[in-house]
Amino acid sequence: MKRYAVVVAGGGLVGTATALALARLGLATALLERRAAPLPEAAWDTRIYAINPGSQAFLEKLGAWQRLDAARLQAVYRMDVRGDAGGLLRLDSYESGVERLATILESARLQQALLDAAQAEPLLDVLCPAALAGVDWQPAPVLTLEDGSELQCELLVAADGADSPLRARAGIAASITPYRQLGVVANFACERPHRGTAFQWFLGESVLAWLPLPGRRMSMVWSAPEAPAEELLALDAAALAQRVQEAGGARLGSLELLTPAAGFPLRLIRPEKIFRPGFVLAGDAAHGVHPLAGQGVNLGFGDAEALAEVLAARGRAACGDPLLLARHARRRREPVAAMQSMTHGLYHLFAAQIPGAGALRNGGLSLMNQLGPVKSQLIHHALIS
Ligand SMILES: Cc1cc2nc3c(=O)[nH]c(=O)nc-3n(C[C@H](O)[C@H](O)[C@H](O)COP(=O)(O)OP(=O)(O)OC[C@H]3O[C@@H](n4cnc5c(N)ncnc54)[C@H](O)[C@@H]3O)c2cc1C
Repeated sequence: MKRYAVVVAGGGLVGTATALALARLGLATALLERRAAPLPEAAWDTRIYAINPGSQAFLEKLGAWQRLDAARLQAVYRMDVRGDAGGLLRLDSYESGVERLATILESARLQQALLDAAQAEPLLDVLCPAALAGVDWQPAPVLTLEDGSELQCELLVAADGADSPLRARAGIAASITPYRQLGVVANFACERPHRGTAFQWFLGESVLAWLPLPGRRMSMVWSAPEAPAEELLALDAAALAQRVQEAGGARLGSLELLTPAAGFPLRLIRPEKIFRPGFVLAGDAAHGVHPLAGQGVNLGFGDAEALAEVLAARGRAACGDPLLLARHARRRREPVAAMQSMTHGLYHLFAAQIPGAGALRNGGLSLMNQLGPVKSQLIHHALIS
C-alpha cells in the first residue's frame, strides 16, 4: 500500500492548487482526478474567471501564473455596476490605489498551467485517470481506487466539486439551496474597445456581467431564472448577440458571438462543517456561491492557501489532526460566510419585487458610489483579499 501525508481527491483548479501547495511544504502528496482535463484550444474558452490579486499572488508562489500566456490575460481596471432603475456604482483601480481589480483568464489554460507545475513537483504524484471507490476512515484514511489499488494518508482533502461525493461519504450533510437560475456564459467580439472595464447590470431577477477579454472581445455571464435562461440558450448566434447587446444598452457597440453559449445551474451550498479527523473539504465542495461577484474559485484558492499555512505550522502533529483542521476551519469561516452573505443578499435585494425595494437598492448603489472610503473597502474585501 502506498503511503502519503496528504491525498487530494479532485484535480479541478482548487484541488490541483491545494496538492501543489502542500507538496511544496515537503509533504508527500497524491492528486486523484477521474478524468483528464481537456487541453486548451485556440478558440476562447467559454469558462473564464476573474482572478483577484490575492489569488494571483498565490498562483505566482505556486509557479503556475508564470506558465500562462500573457497575451491571453486581460486586466480589469474598472467596474461599472448598474441597478435596475438608474443606480450606479463605479469601482476604479486608479482611484483606489491598486494596480488592477482582477485579471480575466480562461479556465482550461489555468488548469493546464497548474497541472504542468504539479507534474514538475517531485513530491507530488498526479494520478489521472483515478477515481475513488471506497474509504476506510479508521484510524487514518485508507483509500481504495477503482482499479483496486490502495493508498493510505494522514489527511484526505475533498476538492471534488459542488456535488462532492466524498462529502456525503464522510457523513457531512450540506444545505443546498438552488437559485433556480442558470449562469449562461458565452464570448463575443465587440465593436468598441472595453478599455479594461467590466460591466454588471442588475436586471430584476437576472444579473448580466460582461467581463473584458484581450482585444475587442468580452465574456458574458448572465445569471437568469431557468425559463428565460433556457430561452437564451435556444437562440441562434445572431439573435443571442442582439439580445445581449440590447440588455447591456449597446455599451460596446454591436456584438458577434464567438463561442456557443453554455448554461450552469447556480446553487448556494453550505456544509454543516468542513472537516472531520483526517478529512477536510476545499473549493466548491466546501462552499457554493452565486457567481454575481465572480468569487467562487478565488474562495477555493483561499482554502488551499490557508490549509497550507496551517499545515506549515503543524509542528509534530499529523496532517489530519482535528485541532489543526479546526484552526483551518476557523480561519475560513469569516471570508466564506462574508462572500455567501454578500452575494446571497445582493441577489435577493435585486430580485425583490416589493414596493420601495427599487428605490432602496438603486439609491444604495449610488450612495456607495459617492463614498470613497466605502468603495475602497469594498474593493479590498470583495475583490482583493
Ligand atoms: C456560470 C458560472 C460562472 C462562474 N464564474 C466565476 C468567476 O468569474 N470567478 C470565480 O472565481 N468563480 C466563478 N465561478 C465558480 C467556479 O467555477 C468554481 O468555484 C470552481 O470551478 C470550483 O473549482 P473546484 O476545483 O472546487 O471544483 P470543480 O471544478 O468542480 O472540480 C472538481 C474535480 O473533481 C473531480 N472529481 C469528482 N469526483 C471525483 C472522484 N471521486 N475521484 C476523482 N476526481 C473526482 C472532477 O472530475 C473535477 O475535475 C463560476 C461558476 C459558474 C457556475
